[in-house]
Amino acid sequence: MKSLRKALSSIENFWRGTWARRVVPPGFVRLAETVPEIDEDMRYAGDENFLGRPVPGYGCAECWLRREVAEALSKVAEEAKALGFRLVVYDCYRPQRATRAFIAWAADDADQAKKAEYYPHLDKRAIFAKGYIAKESMHSLGIAVDIAFIGQDFGTPFDLFDESSATDYAGVSDEARKNRKVLYDLMIKHGFENLPQEWWHFSYKGVSDATPLDVEIA
Ligand SMILES: [Zn+2]
Repeated sequence: MKSLRKALSSIENFWRGTWARRVVPPGFVRLAETVPEIDEDMRYAGDENFLGRPVPGYGCAECWLRREVAEALSKVAEEAKALGFRLVVYDCYRPQRATRAFIAWAADDADQAKKAEYYPHLDKRAIFAKGYIAKESMHSLGIAVDIAFIGQDFGTPFDLFDESSATDYAGVSDEARKNRKVLYDLMIKHGFENLPQEWWHFSYKGVSDATPLDVEIA
């Protein structure tokens, strides 16, 4: 048994050495390694987002979070599972250069490629004033997460910058209202607070020493 463990550990070390990846910032974890029960659909690493292209800083599609946040999410995942739901995250830690790219995008009137899909009723220059994106984002602290239940109706898709994405918006179906409330209640119970404009956005209240970072996700 002891030699088996030793053999496994040397395989693990070999693997780590051969496939060395970037070390996450101090205090951070890769969500996939801490809570593999949560799915990842990292939208800003690919084309399926309001820019329509990969966002600077997202060198790979991984969810990085402060350890405390991942641990809180593991409790949320467990309770969600008991209710028959599985969690999916769309954005986690966000390098500051990504926000700088969002600011540049919002100022570029000529670029309206994704208007119909993501902000049909909004002048994109108002996206910061309305609070859909923050210039100093909690995401850059590694304490915010954009999250949903896989395959469930929430009334509006992730990152639809619209009044109907407000968590307590009354004009969505009963099913969507119920799902928003179940997600909200679970997240609040485990120490998160919600951004009222976005049913999917939550930030964790239990980290006091978080600072914004601009380390590329790679
Ligand atoms: Zn968010």
